[in-house]
Amino acid sequence: MEVIRSAAEMRAWSEQVRCGGAELCLVPTMGSLHEGHLSLAREARRRADVVAVSIYVNPTQFGPGGDYERYPRDEKRDLELLRELGVDCAFIPKSMYPPGDSTFIEVRSKLTEVLCGSRRPGHFAGVARVVAKLFIIVAPHRAVFGLKDYQQLLVVRRLVRDLHLGVEIVAAPIVRDADGLALSSRNRYLTPEQRRQAPALHSALRAVEAAWKAGEDSVHNLVSLGHRTLKEQAPDGRLEYLELRHPATLEGLEFVGWDGALAALAVRFGDTRLIDNILLQHERDA
Ligand code: AMP
Repeated sequence: MEVIRSAAEMRAWSEQVRCGGAELCLVPTMGSLHEGHLSLAREARRRADVVAVSIYVNPTQFGPGGDYERYPRDEKRDLELLRELGVDCAFIPKSMYPPGDSTFIEVRSKLTEVLCGSRRPGHFAGVARVVAKLFIIVAPHRAVFGLKDYQQLLVVRRLVRDLHLGVEIVAAPIVRDADGLALSSRNRYLTPEQRRQAPALHSALRAVEAAWKAGEDSVHNLVSLGHRTLKEQAPDGRLEYLELRHPATLEGLEFVGWDGALAALAVRFGDTRLIDNILLQHERDA
């Protein structure tokens, strides 16, 4: 596996890949890899001849008082995992921002105003900036993103469309622990008691889904049910939001209609912020 640490080297390497006629798939990550990240790399392997995984803890997507400094970093183990998986290239840039970097890229739309966008000002601008840089440097044919960060996926798709970047964005399912908790690099911050309560995020979403499948379509009632489930099962969690929105536009809804809905939530346990979501989708006839 190639380990590349500069943009110039990365550009040269991927140009060689493309000139050889191979298709390249990129998996952007912030490292501290877990099975969720690895599932993305496996999906990339199925989708292309050559797989690159980037590891970069992007400072511009953390707000002031965010956990940038304490965000877990474990490069040695990450490289071992990627080697075991047969990944072709790990791109680990020292920085993506040259001194005095003054170029900004931002998706300004409903997609970035709601849910995590309104609670983490600047977060999606940081994501757009770093993803645009990665796509320009690596120029992959495809890139895989996890549905765990559903809003991020929509923002990246809009970015690619608006900037004509020509990268196909592949969505990969959420990988969970056996008790339903979505895997996240931040789960390691949880105390044993918080970890015991954390699967409530998924239980609340599953309760919403079950009620919807049983015929409840009022967003107000579904959200109330989700709140109750969380309160019962995660008394130490502070709910930041639990919302149902249109799955493509993130517009607010009063009822879950034919397009279904994204049910998404963010909960804080102490300083640790966890997110999760579930798609309420009608099974469509083929
Ligand atoms: P991160 O390192 O947290 O920035 O995540 C890098 C990529 O991994 C993003 O596309 C995430 O959506 C994805 N990801 C993180 N956790 C999971 C998970 N539990 N299941 C699937 N994908 C995930």
